[in-house]
Amino acid sequence: MLDAGFFRRWLTAAAAAVDREAERLTELDSPIGDADHGSNLQRGFAAVVTTLDQEAPATPGAVLVLAGRQLISTVGGASGPLYGTLLRRTGKALGEAAEVSEQDFADALKESVEAVGRLGGAAVGDKTMLDALVPAVDALAESFTAAAAAAEKGAESTVPLQARKGRASYLGERSIGHQDPGATSSALIVTALAEAAGG
Ligand code: ADP
Ligand code: MG
Ligand code: MG
Repeated sequence: MLDAGFFRRWLTAAAAAVDREAERLTELDSPIGDADHGSNLQRGFAAVVTTLDQEAPATPGAVLVLAGRQLISTVGGASGPLYGTLLRRTGKALGEAAEVSEQDFADALKESVEAVGRLGGAAVGDKTMLDALVPAVDALAESFTAAAAAAEKGAESTVPLQARKGRASYLGERSIGHQDPGATSSALIVTALAEAAGG
């Protein structure tokens, strides 16, 4: 079972990974975007950690709703509302239970990834965060480690794709040959799940 502590550890590990990789995320967002993805997420996840420390929400649902709300209000770019919706919606689906099963979490996250796809009008193959998130949630029923590997592979799969959503799509064919920054940060965030679970 997963308690509020697990979800705090997850988001804290995700914040640390984003912080460590911020420069790389911004570099990836330079040829096919506006070179702010690393700084956007660094600011957003730092604010998430601060709020979680201050408010110490007691349930998995409350942790995720608070974190999602914080991302939406702190991250200006496209990724803020998308990641914020992902967390907030997952939190709402988990309700007020003090502990949730891994299966319940996997189901809630999968449904929320689908909602993010609807929100941004994007699907797998459009060269966005969904290229990492969709295979990750499909593998989540197996294990956190399998989800992390699937997300990493999904992020790498964006290199030869032409972007059809977000800023990178303005470049048309010139977006080909670059890894999508959002898919790359998604892989970091999913990998942090395995860390929070202890390996
Ligand atoms: P912005 O593009 O507004 O500067 P960021 O640089 O923080 O925002 O985030 C860019 C990332 O957001 C992209 O690499 C992509 O993965 C993701 N993204 C952009 N638009 C969409 C969308 N419509 N659906 C899903 N993901 C998207
Ligand atoms: Mg950007
Ligand atoms: Mg921007």
